Formats: sequence, C-alpha cells, structure tokens
Amino acid sequence: MSLKVYNSLTRQKEEFKPINPPYVGMYVCGPTVSGESHLGHARPFITFDVVYRYLMHLGYKVRYVRNITDAGHFEEEGREAEDKISKKAVLEKLEPMELVQKYTNLYHWAMSQFNNLPPSIEPTATGHIVEQIEMIKKIIADGYAYEANGSVYFDVEKYNTDFSAKGQPYGILSGRVLEEQIESTRELDNQDEKRNKSDFALWKKAPAEHIMRWQSPWGEGFPGWHIECSAMSTKYLGEEFDIHGGGMDLQFPHHECEIAQSTVCNHKLPARYWLHNNMITINGKKMGKSYGNQIMLSQMFSGSHPLLDQPYAPSTIRFFILQSQYRSTLDFSNDALQGSEKALRRLMEAFEWLQQQDHIGSTGQVDPVLDEKVKKLVTEFDTFMNDDLNTAKVIANMFELVPIINSIKDKHIPAGALHTDTAGLLKKQLSIYILDIFALQSSKADNNHKLEGVLELLINIRKEAKSRKDFVTSDKIRNELAALGVQLKDEKDGGTSFTIQ
Ligand SMILES: [Zn+2]
Repeated sequence: MSLKVYNSLTRQKEEFKPINPPYVGMYVCGPTVSGESHLGHARPFITFDVVYRYLMHLGYKVRYVRNITDAGHFEEEGREAEDKISKKAVLEKLEPMELVQKYTNLYHWAMSQFNNLPPSIEPTATGHIVEQIEMIKKIIADGYAYEANGSVYFDVEKYNTDFSAKGQPYGILSGRVLEEQIESTRELDNQDEKRNKSDFALWKKAPAEHIMRWQSPWGEGFPGWHIECSAMSTKYLGEEFDIHGGGMDLQFPHHECEIAQSTVCNHKLPARYWLHNNMITINGKKMGKSYGNQIMLSQMFSGSHPLLDQPYAPSTIRFFILQSQYRSTLDFSNDALQGSEKALRRLMEAFEWLQQQDHIGSTGQVDPVLDEKVKKLVTEFDTFMNDDLNTAKVIANMFELVPIINSIKDKHIPAGALHTDTAGLLKKQLSIYILDIFALQSSKADNNHKLEGVLELLINIRKEAKSRKDFVTSDKIRNELAALGVQLKDEKDGGTSFTIQ
C-alpha cells in the first residue's frame, strides 16, 4: 500500500509519487533565529522529523533541507524598514552574527532534546545573498519586479493577471483572491514606493543605522524574507522538488510569495506536495507574544513559566504532539501534558519489558482470536501512516496492545497464546515505530532528564542562598552533592555547571 498525503495545493489527499524515485527532495521552512523557539515551533519540526523518518523507512533517499533565517525576516509583514535580527541585536547589544549564533545553538539544542534528526542541508539566508540577488535580477528582467528608491518590490498584480491565465493565480495555495488580500492589507511603511498595496519586498534599501547590509545592483541593502526560501530551495533541490513543508501560518503570505517568485524564475511551481501542520493553542487560546502565553522550549523543559504546573520532558512533548494527526488542532494544557506523560511511561514500560522477552509465542496453544487481533493492530500501523501520516491512530492501536502485553507479563494470558510469528511481528513493529519513526525516548532517558531538572533546581536554590550571603546553605548543597558524586563548578559568567561521576 502506498503513501497518501494531503496536498494543501490541491486540497485533497494524493498518492505520493516522487519526481525521481528513490530520491525525495523536501524543503521545510526553518526558524528565524532572532530569539528562542517556543512551544508552537516544536510542532512543525517534530512533524517533519517524523515525515523524514517515515520516508526513509519506506526506502526513499531523502534530501531534507531546512533553512536558518538569519536575515530578512521583517518585524511584521508590511513593516519592512528593519528586520528582526538587526532590531534584536541592538536590543541585546550583540553583533548580529553573535545573536544569530546564540539562538541557532539554542535551537539545535532544543531539536536534539526532541530527538529530531538534523537535516541533510541547513543553509542560512546570509550565506546565500548572491543567489538571492541573482533571482531578484531575473524577476526584474522578466518584468515582475521593479526598483523604487533602492528597494525592489514584486509586482503582485501583474503576476496575478498573467499567471491567472495559466491557471496559477496569486493565492493558488491559500485560496485567497487578490481583492481579499488587498482588503486585509493595512496602510504600512513605504506604500508610496509600491505600485500596489499587495506588492512585497524582495530587497530593501538599508537605512543609515541598519547594521546588516550587503552590496547589490540597487545599492546597499538586505534581502526580503520570502526570497531566501525560493533561492535556497532551487539551489539545493532544483527547480521542481517533491515536498515543501511548514506550519499552516506560513501558507500566506510566505509560501504564496515563494510560489510566485519561483514560478517567474523557473516557469513551474516549485514543489509538488505542500504539507502544512496545524497550530498549537494554549488552554484554548491562540499563542502569541501579545497574549502573554508564549512558552519558550527551555521553559517547557524546566517548568519555569507561570502557565506550567511542572517541567515537561522533551519526550513527553514529542509524544503529546504525535498523539494528534498533524493537520488537526492541538490544545496545550497541563492536564493534557500530564496525561501524555503517564501514557508514554505506560507504553515504554510495556515495550521495554516485551523487548527483553525471548520466549513469547508458540505454535501449539495459540488463542486464534487474540492472535488475529494483535496481527491486525500491528499491521494497521502502516495503513494509518500511509493515510496522511496518522500518528494518532497508530498510537491508539499501541494502547490497545499495552494491556495485552501487560496481561502476558502478569501471566493472565499465557505466553504461548500468540503465534511465534505474531509475537515476532509485534516486537518488530513496536520497535520500528517507537524507536525509529516516532523516536520516543525510553523511561530511563526520561528519568535522566528529571535528574537534570532536580539539579538545576538545587543550583538555583544555592545561587539564591549565596546572594543573601547564606553560605551555610550554599556550602551544604555543594558538599552533599559532591558526596553523591555530583560536582558543581561555578563559571565566570555567573552560571554553574555540573558533572555526574
Ligand atoms: Zn520559508
């Protein structure tokens, strides 16, 4: 049975047929490294990690490209005077590249905590200025962009008129018609430079105080956000590739702009299948800086946010995300996360016990009803994943298997009730899905994470004690931890690191 995915472009489930099998090219929009990633960012990166792993499981050779936006992401759509990195660099008193490195490191750390595989190529916007300029030159030469006062804008109306005739209007992905888009565009910066309100910047002239700037045929400036993804996906995956992924919030305007830019340059739509994950809400509300409910990933792991009852291990968050199909809505709450934590522990305990058993299954005393049931439940894993990667249904089946495994463990069901082949299939399928595709961590790894959390807590108590000159308490914490084999080391920057012997 073959894989079917929901293609946002055609708004239907389609059989996945790569352009050049067994090779698959997949581009996923990466983070803007002007700050730390929050809970909302966890969903696309975990979703597409599972897509990547599943495609490899099916035997495809995948080139997975995920960019780092280290320039050009404007503070808000339409407000194009300054990009996020430049603004934050001034705020944090760091060199822009120092800021970018700091948040790239933090992002990589969070991704490894989640057990996400690194992409095959992770290109940066600043490393591809030349490619972006070349692409902009091409768009101008074809008549779909114009220069105004040192900036370059994409002519959305002209594109829409010409390409509507070819069945590819601007709005082909999001389904928005141009009039609707113009309605919703507010009166923003540089409107006088633009021919039409809906035009977007490909290149921006850098004001005198702007730190990030590059030479271009239009003077010193910096690239727009949308053009980087078109330039880098074309460079590493070709003019037409298989999958383009990202969060639903990127459909418009980001992916719509990417499609327009690439179509002008390469005379074809850049990707065949557009996959978009749904958003995470927090206690039923939209997540956002202005709502005060944006929980950073490090806060999730340490429990240090007023909305959190406790720390949540990365594996719990990963499992929580996989408990829903990627296109359904997902609401965060402490209750839901605690439910996921318990469920994951139950699943991993049953799984780890089963993996250690060599003598489950028989050929003589098989219970045919139970045997059939187990066989059906494990073969359905593939059926559900092939139906638009329905991880939720796979996990539901796993939870029908857990009580069966536990009954064998408790000897309520004889170990021979399953046929040897079924028992082997059960072990194999659980191992492939839990470890290779879902990449869930064992309960032992979860405990290690908890230990780290406890140590961080003790380090913070010691720091507070020191700050009020309570050296009896601070020394007691250090000495007693040392007696347990945990060495604390005070660093120059005021932080404390630990090593466990
Ligand atoms: Zn992008």
